[in-house]
This record gives sequence, structure tokens and C-alpha cells, in this order.
Amino acid sequence: MKIDLSGQLAIVTGASRGIGAAIARLLGACGAHVVINYKTNESSAIKVMEMIKASGGSAEVAGFDVTDEDEVKVSIKSIVENHGKIDILVNNAGISKDGLILRVRSSDWDDIINTSLKGAFLCTSNVVRYMIKARYGRIINISSVVGLGGNAGQGAYAAAKSGLIGLTKSLTKELGPRGILVNAVAPGFIDTDMTKDADHKSVVAMIPLGRVGLPEDVAGVVLFLCSEIGSYVTGQVIVVDGGLYI
Ligand code: NAP
Repeated sequence: MKIDLSGQLAIVTGASRGIGAAIARLLGACGAHVVINYKTNESSAIKVMEMIKASGGSAEVAGFDVTDEDEVKVSIKSIVENHGKIDILVNNAGISKDGLILRVRSSDWDDIINTSLKGAFLCTSNVVRYMIKARYGRIINISSVVGLGGNAGQGAYAAAKSGLIGLTKSLTKELGPRGILVNAVAPGFIDTDMTKDADHKSVVAMIPLGRVGLPEDVAGVVLFLCSEIGSYVTGQVIVVDGGLYI
């Protein structure tokens, strides 16, 4: 069986690098037209687009800051009106700035919450009007195992990622009757720029599968949730962590 997303339009936020880039590549390989969002890294976003096109897919880049209400509104309106539809939104953009609670600056707190949580709210609220009209949509929020279990030194990040789970479950109830499925994916430790300074060896020692995750490990689960075979799954938080968090 081949997963076919031909004719579908997908927006992936924070897709210039890491997990978002892998999601964009996989959705593109399965036939979706992918909008690769980035904040600052235009050249990386263009490389992701070129990779998709080189393997026969279709994609474009869209630079906007998911924390900026006006930018999100204008960009999403233009993308959706240009294509006449929006089928898939992956709220992936996120940042981490770790620190024990006594040292967390309120500006860092705001940046973390605004990127993961407010960004997802802004992008979602701007796509759902179109999804409701079409009575179809798939929204996937990239949370974290830290949003489920917490982590010392990651209070703000955990709050943002737990918040995404609450948003996912509420929107499942609100939008399910309109044909829109909303799920969260909670990665464990994935090898990206975000984790490049961590001690990989000590993390691997805690992972039953004996390796860190790859962006492609997360992308596969997102693809399942976007596809026809995931059409009775909504309101779930799917952990992708090699058994780290059980
Ligand atoms: P990454 O390699 O640091 O990439 C982050 C991406 O987010 C980049 O494309 C970046 O764009 C984009 N971004 C940041 N702020 C943005 C904003 N305000 N507006 C639009 N885009 C923005 O991170 P990653 O590891 O792939 O993480 C992706 C998601 O997975 C995040 O939500 C993260 O919290 C989550 N996650 C990661 C892990 C992990 O172990 N890596 C584990 C659990 C959850 P630019 O390139 O333009 O800066």
C-alpha cells in the first residue's frame, strides 16, 4: 500500500531544519504540495524545497515568524487563497532555552511559550476557517515527552509542550464534528541542532532502543496521522522516543 497525499496542501512550520525539514520532505515525497515555513534560515528552507523538487515533489518556501500575529495572518491567507485549500498543518516551530527556575528570565519564558504554544494557536486559528468550510483537515502539534513528564531545567519548555497537549485535546472536541483531526506527536531525544550540545552518550544509555531518534522517526508518525490510514485517530499524543519515556 502506498500513502498518497497528491492534491493536498500542507504547511509545516519551522521546516528549514531538523524535524520540520524531515516532515516536509516526507509529505512532499508522498505527493503533497508542501509549504516550508522558516523564520530566519531562508537558504536552508530553499535547500529543503530543492530536495523535494529533485525527487519529483512540489514545494515552496514561506518566511514568517509564527509568534507574529499579523505575519501569520497575512502569510496563511495568501498561501491558502493561492492554492484554494489547506489540508494539513504541522505546528512544529519551537525553541528551547534551558534554565533552572531561579534563573529563567521572563523574556526567555515568553519566547519559548510564544514560539511553541502561541505560534500553534495563531497558525491553527488562521487555517481552521478554511478547513471548516472544506469539512476536512489534519492538524499535528509537535509536543515533547518533556510536556508529559517534565524535566528539571525545562520548566518553560515543558509548560509550552504540555500546553500544546491541552490545545490538541480541546480542538479535537471542538473540530472533530467538522471533519478536522487534531493530534500531537511527542518526540523524545532527536538528533537535531536543538540537541547538538547535549551529552548523546549518556542519553543513549537511557533509551531501550539504544540510539537517539532521527528527524525521520518523527516524520513517519506525522505522515501516518496525515494519511487515510490514520483517519480514525484524533486527540492522541503519540510518543516517538525509542522507549525513553514509559
Ligand atoms: P531545530 O533543529 O532547532 O529547528 C527549529 C525550527 O523552528 C527551525 O526551522 C526554525 O527556523 C524554526 N523556528 C524557530 N522559531 C520560529 C518562529 N518564531 N517562527 C517560525 N519558525 C521558527 O529544532 P528541532 O529539534 O527540529 O525541533 C522541532 C520541534 O520539535 C520543536 O517544536 C521542538 O520543541 C520539538 N522537539 C524536538 C526534540 C528534539 O530532541 N530535537 C524533542 C522533542 C520535541 P529557522 O531555521 O529559520 O531559525
